[in-house]
Amino acid sequence: MRRAVFFFLFLVYVLSTDASLRVEYNTSLAPEIINTEKIEGEEYFNVFELNKAFKAHIKEDILDQRLKINIYDNQLVVLINASYLFHGNKLYNCGQPVLARQGKYYLPVSFLTDILPLLYPEQISYDSNVIRAATPVDSSIRKIVIDPGHGGKDPGAVGFSKENYEKDIVLRIALYLKKLLREKTDLDVVLTRESDDFVSLQERTQLANRANADLFVSLHCNANLSNKVNGIEVYYLSTAITDEDRAAEALENSVVYDFEGGEEAVKRYDDLAFILADMAQNEQLVESYELSSILQNNLVSSVDCRNNGVRQANFYVLRGAYMPAVLVELGYLTNKEEEKKLINESYQDKLAQAIYHGIKNFKYKFDQIQ
Ligand SMILES: [Zn+2]
Repeated sequence: MRRAVFFFLFLVYVLSTDASLRVEYNTSLAPEIINTEKIEGEEYFNVFELNKAFKAHIKEDILDQRLKINIYDNQLVVLINASYLFHGNKLYNCGQPVLARQGKYYLPVSFLTDILPLLYPEQISYDSNVIRAATPVDSSIRKIVIDPGHGGKDPGAVGFSKENYEKDIVLRIALYLKKLLREKTDLDVVLTRESDDFVSLQERTQLANRANADLFVSLHCNANLSNKVNGIEVYYLSTAITDEDRAAEALENSVVYDFEGGEEAVKRYDDLAFILADMAQNEQLVESYELSSILQNNLVSSVDCRNNGVRQANFYVLRGAYMPAVLVELGYLTNKEEEKKLINESYQDKLAQAIYHGIKNFKYKFDQIQ
């Protein structure tokens, strides 16, 4: 009789708890549990369990009704409300549709037990309720390169007063920005220069690529033949469209002609390697655009200035970067009033804080959706 009671209690326990799958790693990493739940009679799990178990990076694309899931540095595209997913150019069927419920996304358990072992045979296998997996690859934003423009023999833009240089202003802002990011985030921060040194444009992106950086933010002040022009604009890479964008592009690129060896050097930047690098940067366009928008909005709402908007240009310094990359023009030194603001340290601090918040927001958006 007692046995029957125990059995009954056991049955109640089994039926009342949601099921789960255990993930064991081939290293000393502690096992994880993926919680599953029944929805419309089928076993499902919240897509964020993938973040927990595989450090997957999940991005929601509402317009196209799909989720982009990055696991082991490899991207899967899952269609919402459909049972299909793409991996490379191959199409797979999960059997059950991916569901959206109150802003959360649920994948069928067959995604874990059948699809993942099929797509990642080297890393993932499944047997009797246990998933065995290789150590997850973290694809969240971890490292950022901050690039204070110009330096050393290259002063960059020269102020209306002829007394202030772009290279000094952006260096001070970059150093403060680095301090903020180091103190308040877990980001690894690298500067392309920490003092008044000349660094070629190519060296700047090479440093970012070698460091395996996840973001590249280049800081500048602008100049214009007309001293009336003022305001802040953030650029991301593309072939420049408007005349103003081309002017900024010519100005920032002129360092190559002026300080890196004239036409020979310009030709070097235009060779095949850079065309290939362009293609790499194209893949980062959406992220680069998002980062530019966030930075632009944060900057213009933090200080009193003209909002020149997000723009596209073909800057050499962005072209070689294999990660989302933007160029921030913090104001026009050739404008008398803006020069006065830009040399003011508390104004510089406000700009650095605005960029810091922007990077933090972008990282939050990029690393996870809720
Ligand atoms: Zn510049």
